[in-house]
Amino acid sequence: MLNIAELQQLITHLHEKYRDLDEGEVATYIPELGKANPDHFGICVYTVEGQEISIGDTGVEYTIQSICKPLAFAYALEDLGRDKTLMHVGVEPSGDSFNSIELDPVSRRPYNPMVNAGAIAVASLIKGENPEAGVGRFLERLCKATDRNLRVDQAVLQSETLTGSRNKAIAYLMHNFGVIDTEIEHTLHQYFSQCSVLVNTRDLALMAASIANLGENPVTGAEAFSVQYTRDVLATLFTCGMYNYAGEWAYRVGVPAKSGVSGGIMGVVNREAGIAVYSPRLDARGNSVRGIAVFRELAEECGLHAFDVFA
Ligand code: GLU
Repeated sequence: MLNIAELQQLITHLHEKYRDLDEGEVATYIPELGKANPDHFGICVYTVEGQEISIGDTGVEYTIQSICKPLAFAYALEDLGRDKTLMHVGVEPSGDSFNSIELDPVSRRPYNPMVNAGAIAVASLIKGENPEAGVGRFLERLCKATDRNLRVDQAVLQSETLTGSRNKAIAYLMHNFGVIDTEIEHTLHQYFSQCSVLVNTRDLALMAASIANLGENPVTGAEAFSVQYTRDVLATLFTCGMYNYAGEWAYRVGVPAKSGVSGGIMGVVNREAGIAVYSPRLDARGNSVRGIAVFRELAEECGLHAFDVFA
């Protein structure tokens, strides 16, 4: 990794270099997401020592979307342990798009916690006694991984609930195979609410840095994640975190990461730093175009690939 001044210089250069890259489209299948400003662009790195290096629109809020998936997976593991959690969700890359209506044909479980089916199964495991309690508890836990109070964007939640037929179909399919319990609407509310939590790019970098720092938030010192399961989260991020670009990402970038359809990408450089990039224009697979460009170059310049020989 570079020193702080070099890193600031590098991300400033990358921000400048990719600011005019305007390929890709803002997601509109959840209508409320279509209101995002396509020009917003922020890059933030948090080191495990708690130092922040930022450039651009790192304070702009957007909904976390799929980046909630690894965090919810961590909470399910913490609540239920590995064996029980893995009875409901696998850890196998699917190679298919994030919203595929499919389950593993043999186990009948969703392939992994990073596709919608797997994340809905995880939401069913961590939902509370009632819908608001489950969402409140999720927010409380998530706040430990940042240094701000977080809240749900009600407009996005409503937009997603009204248009989420595909996710509803997935949930009913899983109920049919006994993967989730009968409280289907409650589970979907938990899942949609988790996706609708408002974050900014600083939050995402700090959440990633908390994972990188053995579960401890490097700014507040709070235990955000149990160290017992950060390995599980990192392994699934590495193999399944970037939609059906996961293999290519592992090959070219080599940083466990998760992207979301609102345009964020969160990457964990284990024991070193958390990195987040936000830019809402997405490629056909649902990954931020500028996000991928920045991560690729940052990983190359700083030797961040997990299997780099000269770091
Ligand atoms: N809430 C989104 C959905 O379920 C999350 C998708 C994503 O960010 O990949 O469709």
